[in-house]
Amino acid sequence: MPRKTILSSDNLPDDDVRRTEDDIPVRLNIPENAEDDDSALRPKLIADMVGQREVYERILISIDAAKKRREPLGHILFDGPPGLGKTTFATCIPHELGTSCQIASGATLKAPKDLIPYLTNAEERSVLFIDEIHRMQKAVEEFLYPAMEDFRIDLVIGEGSGARTLNMQLRPFTIIGATTRAGLLSAPLRDRFTMREHLDFYPVSDLQEIVLRNAAKLRVALAPDAAAEIAGRSRGTPRIANNRLRWVRDYAVSRAGGNITLEVARRAMEMQEIDVLGMDRQDRKYLQVIATVFHGGPVGVEAVAHTMNVAPDTLIDEVEPFLLRSELIIRSPRGRKLTLKAIEFLSEYRK
Ligand code: ADP
Repeated sequence: MPRKTILSSDNLPDDDVRRTEDDIPVRLNIPENAEDDDSALRPKLIADMVGQREVYERILISIDAAKKRREPLGHILFDGPPGLGKTTFATCIPHELGTSCQIASGATLKAPKDLIPYLTNAEERSVLFIDEIHRMQKAVEEFLYPAMEDFRIDLVIGEGSGARTLNMQLRPFTIIGATTRAGLLSAPLRDRFTMREHLDFYPVSDLQEIVLRNAAKLRVALAPDAAAEIAGRSRGTPRIANNRLRWVRDYAVSRAGGNITLEVARRAMEMQEIDVLGMDRQDRKYLQVIATVFHGGPVGVEAVAHTMNVAPDTLIDEVEPFLLRSELIIRSPRGRKLTLKAIEFLSEYRK
């Protein structure tokens, strides 16, 4: 069954129903005031998102054209490291379109039957968001092809020689896929997305803006230089900036009378062992393991993961993209290798 329907839920009070230009009732069940929930800080409209301007412009043009033509938006694939706004874009788009949205996770779509309820429930011009789409099983992926291309599914009824295929027409809708590993998607699936958008790490100035806006949402007093300090130690990632902000807020409330000055922000992050590059203990451990156990590399990620006792996927998805981007490691055909910058950083870092 669909895991979560963020719009068009039937059991909400009438206050939560909004009407669009086409008089389509839209119900919202994203918690508006769950302060410590990720969704409390998640922008609801694309205009409220910070940065990623090129992606932003292209998406808005496609939305505008789809609305004017009264057709579903083309299928969109977002890729990039975790926490950069894939889900945020995907959940803002149905708001902009004024349609409902269902959310599924590729990891739970193990057989075509898991996907059928989402496809048959999809309203005309609505959005089906499939997170971690690279984790979908091959059979599910193939089942999705005719749904994406012709809004049709082929159901096999019966077994053996008596089996026959029944074509079922679906209402035209949009699939938005998100993945941290675009490379793992098969070419036929990738090609069925009319738009493919890569989200990159954010510059400090964008993260500072996000931190300032979210401090206002969380009703905390935050000095601009403290916001810049938090942004600079957030690994180019809005989700990490939000997490750092929450920690700094807690620290300020508990130890500094609630006001976040530059000094308070620094002390709070140092207490969490977040260094000036924004790395946490796990990032540094990764570098230290390559430096000391594997003499600087090259070394395969599985060997590093094994030594650190973490899943290789955690390193590939969450740790390595930022270290590669920061030129602290390089990836060669023979494995990962530390750069001179990483070696110098480790020799200077004292904890
Ligand atoms: P992903 O799906 O890529 O892992 P999310 O979309 O869940 O990342 O983003 C994590 C959080 O970061 C969101 O809840 C939101 O608060 C914040 N965020 C992400 N992108 C932006 C943005 N462009 N502007 C403002 N906040 C953002």
